[in-house]
Amino acid sequence: MARQLIWIERQRFRGFGCSECAWVFISSSAPSGKSFDEMMRNFELQRDQEFTLHVCADHPNRQKQGNKNTD
Ligand SMILES: [Zn+2]
Repeated sequence: MARQLIWIERQRFRGFGCSECAWVFISSSAPSGKSFDEMMRNFELQRDQEFTLHVCADHPNRQKQGNKNTD
């Protein structure tokens, strides 16, 4: 099962996260750039990089989310 970068909306958090574990992307600093486009590019680069580098086993789900139909 391949993990995916997904958009997450919860009461306490809204942002990007991993489909297979509890990892979420929290930007450590405001994205830098001379223009909005450049800022977005830097933000996406940082996000994709951190997503690629994270290890799912380090961010276990507290309980399985019932996203999938099991029956
Ligand atoms: Zn993960």
